[in-house]
Amino acid sequence: MSLLAAPWDVAAAAGADRRYAAVGDHPGGAAYAVATAVAFLAVGETYSYWVHRALHRVPALARLHATHHAVGAPTPFAAFAFHPLDGYAQGLYFHAFPFVVPVHRGAYAAFMAALSVWSILAWVFITPRT
Ligand SMILES: [Zn+2]
Repeated sequence: MSLLAAPWDVAAAAGADRRYAAVGDHPGGAAYAVATAVAFLAVGETYSYWVHRALHRVPALARLHATHHAVGAPTPFAAFAFHPLDGYAQGLYFHAFPFVVPVHRGAYAAFMAALSVWSILAWVFITPRT
C-alpha cells in the first residue's frame, strides 16, 4: 500500500500539491482554514461511505475487501488490515485532497492525526463488546 501511496508523497515533495505554510498565505485566512477542515471531514466521510459501500456491493471489489472483514477482532489495528488496492481506494481521497484544495500544512497534519484518533475512539466507545 505504501508503494501505491509513494507517488503522492514524491509529488508533494516536488511542490505539486496546494498545501501552504501560514494561515496568512491564503486570502481567506483563518475562516478559510476552518472551512477547509469542515469540507475535508464532510467530503472525506462521504467518500469513505460510498467507497466502502462499493466494496460491499460490487463483486470484484467485495473479494478484495473480504480480507479486511476476515479479521476476527475489531480493534484499531483492523483499520490497517486491507488488501493493498482496497486500502489505496479508501485512502485515495486523503492523498488527493491537498492536490485539489489549498490547505494549511498544519491543518492537514491535524486532519490526518484526527482520523487516527477517531479510529481509536470509535473502537473504544462504539465497537460492541461480546
Ligand atoms: Zn466493509
